[in-house]
Amino acid sequence: MTTHLVWFRTDLRLHDNLALAAACRDSKASVIALFIATPQQWQKHQMAPRQAAYLQAHLNALQTNLAEKNIPLLFREATDFTAAIETLKSLCHEHQVTHLFYNYQYELNEHQRDVAVEKVLTDVVCQGFDDSVMLPPGSVMTGNQQMYKVFTPFKNAFIRRLQEGLPECVRAPSVRQHDGGEASSAITLSYPQQAFDPNLFPADEKNALTRLRHFCQQQAAEYEDKRDFPALEGTSRLSACLTLGVLSPRQCLHRLLAECPQALEGGVGAVWLNELIWREFYRHLMTYHPELCRYKPFIGWTDKVTWKRDKQVLEAWQQGKTGYPIVDAAMRQLNTTGWMHNRLRMIVASFLVKDLLIDWREGERYFMSQLVDGDLAANNGGWQWAASTGTDAAPYFRIFNPTTQGEKFDKDGEFIRHWLPELNEVPGKALHAPWAWAEKENVELEYPRPIVDHKQARLDTLAAYEAARKT
Ligand SMILES: Cc1cc2nc3c(=O)[nH]c(=O)nc-3n(C[C@H](O)[C@H](O)[C@H](O)COP(=O)(O)OP(=O)(O)OC[C@H]3O[C@@H](n4cnc5c(N)ncnc54)[C@H](O)[C@@H]3O)c2cc1C
Repeated sequence: MTTHLVWFRTDLRLHDNLALAAACRDSKASVIALFIATPQQWQKHQMAPRQAAYLQAHLNALQTNLAEKNIPLLFREATDFTAAIETLKSLCHEHQVTHLFYNYQYELNEHQRDVAVEKVLTDVVCQGFDDSVMLPPGSVMTGNQQMYKVFTPFKNAFIRRLQEGLPECVRAPSVRQHDGGEASSAITLSYPQQAFDPNLFPADEKNALTRLRHFCQQQAAEYEDKRDFPALEGTSRLSACLTLGVLSPRQCLHRLLAECPQALEGGVGAVWLNELIWREFYRHLMTYHPELCRYKPFIGWTDKVTWKRDKQVLEAWQQGKTGYPIVDAAMRQLNTTGWMHNRLRMIVASFLVKDLLIDWREGERYFMSQLVDGDLAANNGGWQWAASTGTDAAPYFRIFNPTTQGEKFDKDGEFIRHWLPELNEVPGKALHAPWAWAEKENVELEYPRPIVDHKQARLDTLAAYEAARKT
């Protein structure tokens, strides 16, 4: 009798799971599933306690869903990846596993772990799948077989590939005839946890699919007009589901095209598709430039910028106490919910790096420590874009003005007032520069004065980047 083991990692779903579907193709095989928690490894990469809670919820939902198919989900804990390989090896031995199925992870340590696993499991047939992407890394390349460095030509080539043929979605497995045995009891991760709001982040595969359907039916058409305004419900909020693999990008693509059939031709829905392709771009890029996983900038000279090391200033940014309302409201949204609107991620990242001149890696780490959707490729890509250290990044002399960004994207201050109730007495548009209003009215606000003068900070940053470029 053959025994198939599916090793779940960031692919916590039954539908359109390439490894799971392949493991279940042989109806005679016994199928078991496994998840190995690696808390020390997570700690090293600043995994957010909210993401841990989200992961735990999904693991338990996955266990229930798999049990209905007669597939037990076994749970093991190992300190780090080296220990995880040993755990996997002894489990394969114990259950006489003949075939291992898993979906690739493209981060450097994860990739190295998988290479080591295939070397160690000499008696087991191992099969990996490109499951967390629409198109596998290496399949969208320049004419010279190089990875694209600029997004737009990558996107154009990507869309041409999709027009030639869409990647299929595979079905969830049907109920297995052989009962694969006992699952582990309810899963509890030994990692700090912080509650997440299930209204913001669907805590089950079924709810995630419902959210996706609803977004594509009701909101995708208006996405282009609404996506930049944090006070509106303009985006899908599906990032955490995509990060943990509760949804696949292929499901997103197919659902979008079912509701917006012109999206591939640049019609309604194309702007949301664009964002899904940004996600792919950063993943493909990471496989060709693994140094990105080691906190290295894409543009070498930017590593010579002399950053300021000021713990107090960094903490003021982290806590949302910089005196710039749009920045502070955004940071409070992050700290309270574990999520931040994309426009705000760009604003606060620009502010940390180009107003406070603090190393972008501090921001990257802090985001990971708070985000439910923390994802190395997207987070690193976003930070390097904002800091002008990345490929196809904003040029270094492009520096957002935090006051005008607030005026433009939260004109009436609805978002700011929600997160900064201490500014409620500041009327109308004065909200975006409360220090000026307080001075004029001779009022004492319980809100800090700006931590830096934007005009001066901008000049200092330009000088620091230019000095680095010349060395
Ligand atoms: C500094 C910075 C850090 C970021 N860190 C992360 C992160 O850790 N994890 C993460 O998933 N996204 C990250 N992003 C990208 C983006 O902000 C979020 O994906 C988005 O805000 C999630 O909200 P949504 O699901 O409503 O997105 P929607 O606007 O509905 O977009 C749909 C999906 O496309 C993907 N996507 C959208 N924008 C981007 C983008 N710019 N880059 C890559 N993928 C994108 C996400 O998977 C998202 O769920 C970061 C962006 C910046 C500027």
